[in-house]
Amino acid sequence: MTAADPHIAEFHNHIDGEARPARGGGLLDSVDPSTGRVWARVPDSGAADVDDAVAAARAAFPAWRSTPPARRADLLRAWSAAVLAHADDLAAIESRDNGRVLKETRGGDVPGGALNIRYNAELADKVTGDTVHLGGATVASTRYEPFGVVGVIIPWNAPLAMFFAKVSGALAAGNTVVVKPAEQACCSVLAACGLLAEAGLPPGAVNVVSGTGPVAGEALVDHPGVARLHFTGSTATGRRVTRHAAAGLKNVSLELGGKSPNIVFDDADLDAATAGVAGGIFTGGAGQACVAGSRVLIQEGVFEEFTRRLRAHAAALRVGDPRDPSTDMGPLAFAGQYDKVRAYLELGPREGAEILFGGRTGREVVGADPALAGGYWVEPTLMAATDNRLRVCQEEIFGPVAVALPFRTEDEAYAIANDTVYGLAGGAWTRSLDRAHRAVAAIDAGTVWINTYRRIHWAVPFGGRKHSGDRPSNGAEGLREWLTLKAAWIEVGAPPAPPRPTEGGAG
Ligand code: ADP
Repeated sequence: MTAADPHIAEFHNHIDGEARPARGGGLLDSVDPSTGRVWARVPDSGAADVDDAVAAARAAFPAWRSTPPARRADLLRAWSAAVLAHADDLAAIESRDNGRVLKETRGGDVPGGALNIRYNAELADKVTGDTVHLGGATVASTRYEPFGVVGVIIPWNAPLAMFFAKVSGALAAGNTVVVKPAEQACCSVLAACGLLAEAGLPPGAVNVVSGTGPVAGEALVDHPGVARLHFTGSTATGRRVTRHAAAGLKNVSLELGGKSPNIVFDDADLDAATAGVAGGIFTGGAGQACVAGSRVLIQEGVFEEFTRRLRAHAAALRVGDPRDPSTDMGPLAFAGQYDKVRAYLELGPREGAEILFGGRTGREVVGADPALAGGYWVEPTLMAATDNRLRVCQEEIFGPVAVALPFRTEDEAYAIANDTVYGLAGGAWTRSLDRAHRAVAAIDAGTVWINTYRRIHWAVPFGGRKHSGDRPSNGAEGLREWLTLKAAWIEVGAPPAPPRPTEGGAG
């Protein structure tokens, strides 16, 4: 980071172990969403910068893949320790850059990211294959190998958590990496790159190129030197990335959007459900979470009571400066997202939803503080709807805006819950153990939470279904995302056998 203008920080790309500006010299503004003012500038990289990053990653790959896994694990553990040691600074940058409250960045994302790195470090030397005895002198075996250079595209809502999780998995598996963070919020990731050398990771193992999606992002997706892609972001962009990757027959894994149901049954502990539903859509990232519980399905008998409690809970939340450790909810991350959420606040009532509470935006939300007057504030908002086909019930809003839908029977709840193109997550609140198990089975999503919500842990697989993505990340299985399987046939101590027709396949 340099500071040509003392008020505006400048961050650089990280290529081949060096901090570098974009070759073309272009810069993008990074806006502090709590003030609406530019606070930093980041490189506006183009295809040439992506070329440089891929070349550095390719050059670093042979040595990194042949570094003994236990040594890779040591280096990752050192990285984890460095992240923990700088947790205050990194969290402060992220909270400033995308408005995610310190409670989440310092309280969860950064220390959790460090533990996630350590978890992946521990997996590095536990990659094993199988042996298949075929009789006679033939032995076949399987081995998991790194792909080579992997491209990782991450979004703006929780960049550090995503960066630490994805990059440490890819590195543990023996790949080298090029990351394209989101142009709206990438300062924390660019700042974190300084720790890679401190941890002893070799130059070129991790490269980060900032720039816009259509330019730097697409250059990475299309680059012939990239063997595999991971994309986290919206479903619409995921579709576009998949189309491009398909043109190059490139393997891509996807973590996309959601419109997750959070079901409150009439036998629920309503205190716990109120806090859990609010935590799933309002607090933390102001609803800018892929797993946000944005459809609150409430059983008829407790509809009035539950929405009354939720209103009281929302009214007590502290909305304001994300870098104040007591703040519960910050602003939306950038102007484009603010405009999008406001458009849904207007759309809901037009298509028949009723705003039960909230709905205000802008300075009205944060009161008298003039420093925050230009920020992208949206009040915690609950709309009531009776028809799940409304656009506010079907489309991902990605803000602190939930829709409450009443239901009568348990089966009706699951039918509404699954009436969506998404399948990322879902929740249910009940005191019945039977019902808890039925809900887990009935909700068609990659993660189901019972009597809790918005919990993601590096040791637990996480992934989507339907339009929400494909294979899970995290957990021991998650490392497979970064490995490709090879079969080896070895003829031991006998003359080579001719191929037998019974062994023939289509390949
Ligand atoms: P949003 O949630 O604002 O829709 P996106 O899903 O578009 O965000 O963005 C997620 C990431 O994908 C960001 O890093 C963004 O720059 C990148 N991106 C956007 N468009 C493309 C594209 N056409 N090709 C590759 N990456 C893209």
